[in-house]
Amino acid sequence: MSKHIFVTGGVTSSLGKGLTAASLGRLLKSKGLKVVIQKLDPYLNVDPGTMNPFEHGEVYVTDDGGETDLDLGHYERFVDESLTQASNATTGSIYSSVIAAERRGDYLGKTVQVIPHITDEIKKRISALASDDIDVVITEVGGTVGDIEILPFLEAIRQFRLDVGKENVCYVHVTLIPFIGPAGELKTKPTQHSVTELRSRGIQPDVIVLRSDRPIQQNLMSKISSLCDVPLDGVISAPDADSLYEIPLGMHEAGLDDYVCKTLELPDNEPDLTEWQSLVDSVEGVWKPLKIGVIGKYVTLHDAYLSVAEALRHASFKHEVDIEIKWILSDRVEGMLIDEALAGLDGIVLPGGFGERGVQGKIAAATYARENNIPTLGLCLGMQAMVIDYARNVVGLEDAYSSEFNTADRITPHPVIDLMESQKEVTDMGGTMRLGAYVAKLDPESQVAKIYGDSVVSERHRHRYEFSAKHVDQFSEQGLSCSGLSPDGQLVEFIELPDHPFWIGTQAHPELKSRPDRPAPLFDGLVEASLNQAMKRNPERYEKPIDLVATESEQLHERS
Ligand code: GLN
Repeated sequence: MSKHIFVTGGVTSSLGKGLTAASLGRLLKSKGLKVVIQKLDPYLNVDPGTMNPFEHGEVYVTDDGGETDLDLGHYERFVDESLTQASNATTGSIYSSVIAAERRGDYLGKTVQVIPHITDEIKKRISALASDDIDVVITEVGGTVGDIEILPFLEAIRQFRLDVGKENVCYVHVTLIPFIGPAGELKTKPTQHSVTELRSRGIQPDVIVLRSDRPIQQNLMSKISSLCDVPLDGVISAPDADSLYEIPLGMHEAGLDDYVCKTLELPDNEPDLTEWQSLVDSVEGVWKPLKIGVIGKYVTLHDAYLSVAEALRHASFKHEVDIEIKWILSDRVEGMLIDEALAGLDGIVLPGGFGERGVQGKIAAATYARENNIPTLGLCLGMQAMVIDYARNVVGLEDAYSSEFNTADRITPHPVIDLMESQKEVTDMGGTMRLGAYVAKLDPESQVAKIYGDSVVSERHRHRYEFSAKHVDQFSEQGLSCSGLSPDGQLVEFIELPDHPFWIGTQAHPELKSRPDRPAPLFDGLVEASLNQAMKRNPERYEKPIDLVATESEQLHERS
């Protein structure tokens, strides 16, 4: 039987509840346990697919085509298991199921109510992930204790413990210990209130994870232990970390996994964190600079490109570079001299997006990078911008564009990017996209096949428009290689420019499958090509700083 861990949040949002759940997942997996993880979101959207990235950050797509919360990205990157859409349920999806059941007459004339019908449906979603093969199901409850919307979820997880037995459930509450500047003190009161609120819903936390901007002294931990009635070992200090990837190590040090295993009567082996530790260590002392520009329209909220940024970081771990991501607003590129807008970049990512705003900036960046040998990776809309650049500036199709941007009085004569046939009849905004993992066949001689080390690859997708394979000959005659197609040969999945150090686009989102120890191949390739070009352009920048050389020789001297 699976054990269940419920992670709730108190005091404020954005505390890193998702990262706590993901870190705990990693630690339990490193102890040899089989872990699955899910997020319950208290908003009414059926899924985050229709939400503006400014509101909600990136939409994380699973292999099976689920459009899910970005916390699932943290879960996959930390726990290193591919999840499915069953790992994300919203109030909207739960109500939809209950209302559909009511319309079918499944409730046999009964009055349908939040308790028990909505709470039962929530419990059903939680139980759906449990099985004989799974040791632990971690369920993060989105939102903050005290929100109106969260109540049915708290009631469901309260009941859950009664249903499956108290030895099978562990409640972890993540709260904030703020530092009050003028008083010069960390304060426990908001945590006390939050735990009181949780208790008023019938839930006594087993573990409290205290988020703060600095380490918390023992006397405050003891105070919280006594006032919140949680044994001291269950009070975990989680100060801000320099990098996300240090969090599991810090939580292990603070005893989180050991304590959770004790409460759940799980075998408490020492977790094998060797690889994770060496990943974190590999960043130490890294000095080779590399500046990668991400040019998009949602850059003011970095969470909108969370997986892109993480994939770049994963590649930087492998190539031991000190990566700086420069966020560049694509609309602003339109109004600037392009070489000023892109000055100093060693490489470029043109990420995905929807709608016309900022597209001219992406196209201009694609042109500039192509003409100036700047390594560039285009993702989905980014690839489409590269195709439009090539169509207009090399193939000679003036005014080539995507039909996504047609307006009543401006219809492109050359829709090189056009709506996919399969999507032309669909009207439901929630169901119009090509979603999830699709296989592509690569030209074995291509750059992309070499980068992937394979000629059949699978990546996740989220798009309505396509670069149709009917253009392959016309573009390849002019030097652009369509190096990967869908197995039926209808859709272009990868493009590349053979004579360029790296000018590669994909219709997919390879960033979603990147892992800290296994960067997505195209990000790996981009960082490698950018570093090579940067070293060629400016070798002095890559001469080891004199103080580092000195420290090394001092160490040698000391050792001898
Ligand atoms: N808007 C484009 C399409 O729907 C690109 C989507 C994306 O970048 N994810 O095809």
